[in-house]
Amino acid sequence: MLLLNPGPVTLTERVRRSLLQTDLCHRESEFFDLQDEARERLVNVYGLDPAQWSAVLMTGSGTAAVESMVAALVPEHGKLLIVENGVYGERIAHIAAQYRIAHEVVKHEWMEAPDLARIVARLDADRGFTHVAVIHHETTTGRLNDLRTLGAVCRERGVQLLVDGVSSFGAEAIDFNDGSIAAVAATANKCLHGVPGAAFVIVRRDTLAQAASRTFYLDLSRLARLQDQRNTPFTPSVHAYYALVEALRELADEGGWTARHARYAALAEQARAGLAARGVASAVAPEQSSVVLRAYRLPDGVSYPQLHDALKARGFVIYAGQGGLSAELFRISTMGDIHAADVDRLLQGFSELSR
Ligand SMILES: *Cc1c(COP(=O)(O)O)cnc(C)c1O
Repeated sequence: MLLLNPGPVTLTERVRRSLLQTDLCHRESEFFDLQDEARERLVNVYGLDPAQWSAVLMTGSGTAAVESMVAALVPEHGKLLIVENGVYGERIAHIAAQYRIAHEVVKHEWMEAPDLARIVARLDADRGFTHVAVIHHETTTGRLNDLRTLGAVCRERGVQLLVDGVSSFGAEAIDFNDGSIAAVAATANKCLHGVPGAAFVIVRRDTLAQAASRTFYLDLSRLARLQDQRNTPFTPSVHAYYALVEALRELADEGGWTARHARYAALAEQARAGLAARGVASAVAPEQSSVVLRAYRLPDGVSYPQLHDALKARGFVIYAGQGGLSAELFRISTMGDIHAADVDRLLQGFSELSR
């Protein structure tokens, strides 16, 4: 079965085999070597300076990293402006509410791009905002939100940007040195091709010094401090770390994030063109979409369950639209060990469907 859902991904054999390594106690030096390698390689994915940036690991899914970032980095008397144009923006609003973090949401329809004018107006109306949170790749629709223009707006106002990069880290451009980004949260099991269970926040070291401590398990600054001391507060998912390290080695061997971007771009375009030729339209214009995942309109007269089951019978797991979009959309991600021949077979499946 090939997974075309947005994570967990179809593993490469190399990463799968890495799970079979020797059992490790997480209080032994062998584990800390593994943790150190994962952290060094994560900082290096975008060529960051480890003196300025820290990769903080935790055991959990991508949401754990997003929650840890938001709970720590908005200070006690800070205020967060959340850009919402999908499920994951809404999730950050839920996290902020849960921790009673002062916040406001700039809501958009889920098919819309962020409206910079509205965001600027909110920031200028209330100089109390210290942070803006945004989803880089809004997996709900496949839209790639523009970090560059939003970052400029934040930088001009001295506001820090918190980025949910869960479904973009490792495959889309992120300009960490644009002066606005304080942190990016992500996970092992999307564009990095690891297994679920390890997540991380790439954070500016100087912002950690002012971090709040609202949560116990996901306390970002404690995790960072102990990991810097070759320590860990709790039992980590050792096997997920094995897989993360192997996946990061493989990413480096394959040419890093730019090569992964190019590979995903080719697969996404192959799927888009093939589906368009079969009368299946893109829901978001390709130039506004990520290379990681694309949303498509369900063909006329075909329900999602019908499409899903027919493709599953052919060996592919696709993904439904979320929330109100479930009756209109389906999604195809080409993360993981997916190749052009697989997309060809998928398109063949679509051809057979319409017969
Ligand atoms: C997958 C994803 C998450 C995290 O989801 P988990 O189920 O916790 O892994 C967060 N944000 C975005 C944009 C995602 O695509």
